[in-house]
Amino acid sequence: MNRMTDKMLRWYARHARALPWRAPPGQRPDPYHVWLSEIMLQQTTVATVRKRFDDFVRRWPTLRALAEAPREEVLAAWAGLGYYARARNLHKCAREVTRTLNGQFPQTPRELKKLPGIGDYTAGAIAAIAFNHPAVAMDTNAERVIARLFAVTEPLPECKETLRRHAEELLPKDTPGDFAQALMDLGAIICTPRDPACALCPLMEDCKASKQGLAEDLPRKRRKPPKPRRTGRAFWIERADGRVLLRRRPEKGMLGAMVEIPSTDWDGAPPPFSGETPFRLEFERLRPHVRHTFTHFHLKLALHRLPEPLPIDRARLLPLPPGWFWHPLDKLDTVGLPTVMKKAANLLRGPR
Ligand code: SF4
Repeated sequence: MNRMTDKMLRWYARHARALPWRAPPGQRPDPYHVWLSEIMLQQTTVATVRKRFDDFVRRWPTLRALAEAPREEVLAAWAGLGYYARARNLHKCAREVTRTLNGQFPQTPRELKKLPGIGDYTAGAIAAIAFNHPAVAMDTNAERVIARLFAVTEPLPECKETLRRHAEELLPKDTPGDFAQALMDLGAIICTPRDPACALCPLMEDCKASKQGLAEDLPRKRRKPPKPRRTGRAFWIERADGRVLLRRRPEKGMLGAMVEIPSTDWDGAPPPFSGETPFRLEFERLRPHVRHTFTHFHLKLALHRLPEPLPIDRARLLPLPPGWFWHPLDKLDTVGLPTVMKKAANLLRGPR
């Protein structure tokens, strides 16, 4: 075994993070737990996933239970985790594995990548951690550690293949799952983006970046263009009996199939507003906006509400399109509003 690999595994055996989806070093975890945690961890921090993972597993203890759950319930349980395509694919994947693979995940990255929501990294992580298949899992933590160990100065994403090859040089035949998790933990605890704790690192003697004083500069990244800014408007229509009008977004596109406060497209319409309002009702505008940052753009959402709740007789006459529905205000927490809509609702339901 490579000397660096040996040091890494010995460090992992003593310092592995105790995470609810993990088995102790040397033991195999439940593939359902590995898959669920890896999907949740895409773009989300370990601290956030810790609690949400437990909630999910308590509610759907097996892959089959998740596959049999109504999709709306899974989307609502995912609310706040963001990147909602993950939740749709999670449910699709659970159904596919249950129905066509007898509830058994495939064991190789190649087969895993054929399933919804599983890309290169996730396939490598599931194959290595759940099935001890000799695969590397290159997430941002692993990329950072490898770039520093081998002093790779080419920027990301161009150097991805080089980093993968270096990681494969270190991959142990017998314990690829522990190796994948050791890399993740080293990156999360010791070889952090800023101020890496080289003095505590088991690999300091072998690390080229540390020797060359380059650790904090690596990995280099190609400069990204600034995110565009978009605007939109949300309309709060409250009914006199304490219900609010919501709708389910279209299946495809941003926040697909999630519940929202009726809104315009998020493209332009800067103030003053001269567009049509839902059902041509007259709204008043709230002073505060909601600001929210998505992966690809910043959103500024103007907020509008009726001066008074609609009398029930009048509300009944509104020609509601498919997907629109009245929802009790005191149960707003259970409907699964995405974070941007939760921010809007908190302002809109405030005092008049
Ligand atoms: S020695 Fe420093 S830079 Fe190198 S892997 Fe360890 S923590 Fe990272």
